[in-house]
Amino acid sequence: MNRTALRHSTTDGLRLVDEPLPELAPGEASIDVLAVGLCGTDTHILEGNFPSADNVIMGHEVCGVVRELADDSSDLAVGDLVTVEPHKYCTACTYCRSGDEHLCINKKGYGVKLDGGMTTTMIAPARILYRLDPQIDPLIGAMAEPLACCIHSMDRLNPTSGTSILISGCGPAGAMLVALSKARGLTPIVVSEPSESRRELALKMGADLAVHPDELDSPEVATLAGEQGFHSVVDAVGRAAIARDLLNRIRKGGTFLVFGVAAPDDALSLTPREVYDKELTIVGSIINPYTHERAVAMLQSLPLEAIPTRTFPLTDYEAAFVAQREGREKIYLVPNRDNAKRLA
Ligand SMILES: [Zn+2]
Ligand SMILES: [Zn+2]
Repeated sequence: MNRTALRHSTTDGLRLVDEPLPELAPGEASIDVLAVGLCGTDTHILEGNFPSADNVIMGHEVCGVVRELADDSSDLAVGDLVTVEPHKYCTACTYCRSGDEHLCINKKGYGVKLDGGMTTTMIAPARILYRLDPQIDPLIGAMAEPLACCIHSMDRLNPTSGTSILISGCGPAGAMLVALSKARGLTPIVVSEPSESRRELALKMGADLAVHPDELDSPEVATLAGEQGFHSVVDAVGRAAIARDLLNRIRKGGTFLVFGVAAPDDALSLTPREVYDKELTIVGSIINPYTHERAVAMLQSLPLEAIPTRTFPLTDYEAAFVAQREGREKIYLVPNRDNAKRLA
């Protein structure tokens, strides 16, 4: 059997290839991919800003149907709708041995260092697949991966219910952070976002107020959040200048969460005195350790269908990446659109 796959060469860019489907190794499963989300990491890979393997099949936000299982090492069955936890940890480094596998020094991501989901049929270990309710829209199913990242970041932030939060940036992940803040009882939830349609999305996800970044000093924000600033402030954009401004909006004793992925050389100035005087806590958050099961559990309880989506066949990958950069919708490739009843 053959599959079609979107492979990325670090020298020649993207190309679609028709290739034989590899034999399954013990413990592996093949998945007919129904939807694979594009995210900022994919754009960074194309721009050469994110280390990836040469000639890798891209795609790490995957939802599909189990086609074949090598053995009975999992409780999955052929035909199950699944999503993928797209990381492989070495199990032997100091972080893996300390329960911090996501910080593994030999970590490999599917769709980054290992072949991922931008293909008609993906192969992955069955143990990193999570069964979904068969009624779930595959576009929502593929959101489990970014949602799992957002759940981990909320764990890191660990806000108390009834406290305020400011989230800067309301792309798909920012929108998920708004929904998780709402579910956690944070109030008020204020979103800073230049795009009007994304501000509307923020309100649908549960924000109390969504403003243009230029309006963060408005009386409206101060009335809602108080003069002292926010208990929690989240940078979901990944730009140092924005992060610097956000740091000024944290109240004493508050916490700053770095969620957006900034360019490696994008720096900001922060004085130790500022951290001391305000007793600030600054936390980072990377990928999604042990949060996939919870993401799957929350998929149907959050208003994720409010996130605008747009799908492209695998052959239209160039248009898909253009649309991803435009940022108006959550973009998906649907490699099996023609033979998938679910997407009909
Ligand atoms: Zn991603
Ligand atoms: Zn390790």
